Amino acid sequence: MEHAGNILPNVLQAVGHTPLIALQRVIPGNGAQIAVKFEAVNPGGSIKDRIAGALIDSAERDGRLRAGGTIVEATAGNTGIALAMAAAVKGYQALFVVPEKMSPDKIAILKAFGASVRIVPEAPRNDPDNYQNIAKRLAEEVPGGCYMGQFEQEANALAHFNTTGPEIWEASGERVAAVVAGAGTGGTITGIGRYLKQKNPDILVIGADPVGSIFTGPVAPFKIEGMGEDYYPATLDMDVVDRWVAVADEEAFAMCRRLAHEEGILAGGSSGAMVHVAVRVAESLPAGSLVVAVAPDTGRNYLSNIFNG
Ligand code: PMP
Repeated sequence: MEHAGNILPNVLQAVGHTPLIALQRVIPGNGAQIAVKFEAVNPGGSIKDRIAGALIDSAERDGRLRAGGTIVEATAGNTGIALAMAAAVKGYQALFVVPEKMSPDKIAILKAFGASVRIVPEAPRNDPDNYQNIAKRLAEEVPGGCYMGQFEQEANALAHFNTTGPEIWEASGERVAAVVAGAGTGGTITGIGRYLKQKNPDILVIGADPVGSIFTGPVAPFKIEGMGEDYYPATLDMDVVDRWVAVADEEAFAMCRRLAHEEGILAGGSSGAMVHVAVRVAESLPAGSLVVAVAPDTGRNYLSNIFNG
């Protein structure tokens, strides 16, 4: 149907074009600048809204996902929320497998979009009971099931190469000196990193990594949700990352609360990790340099844990 004026045809068209916001109080002492890529304003509340449409398009094109089928995915929550939103628009069912450490707030949002959720205990990547392996099996068992494969599909990093990267480049006035992102699937840092390096190979691509994640090793449990892994996902291009910086749960959560209290930016724990690392990186750069920290999701996802008390 044609729509007059500025009416969007559906909610999925409201994804992306998020703001780059300068920090005013959480700043280094040397005159360098930090700006946050505020992904919370996506309609599903996270950066993962950007990949949902791309994953579905590619599954439809390959014939893996057919009309009335069921989208199945392993998710820390945000990809599920994004896919559940898209499933509602496009008439698919949705079933998600989520590790039990993820916040109850994200589970409630998945259900609010009409999705089914299986919460499973943490298990190493090569264990048959790992959430990704369970989701793959379920996709074969459920009639019309399709495993979306955010940890494998090229559509993931490509969505960030096509949207998040160019938005950062343009909104920074083409003067971003360094970008800080985390890696869960690695799609964000790979897509943004490839785009920015193509524009200017001197731009530093910094990976923030929870203490306990494999990129800064050794592997151990950690509380930050959505980033950090115990293996190297196919969707992460290690060559695009100049440096990894480890960040402890408490450093990330303390910064997450500072962003809310001092900047009015209600973002999640991984955003706290990115900004914590961005301050360190900015301190090592000349005055006037701009460091962009990707803030992947909304703090509303963590009202019951990070912001509780
Ligand atoms: N932070 C949060 C809160 C996330 O949900 C995700 C996605 N899992 C990430 C960071 C990391 O993004 P990516 O999967 O693109 O590496």
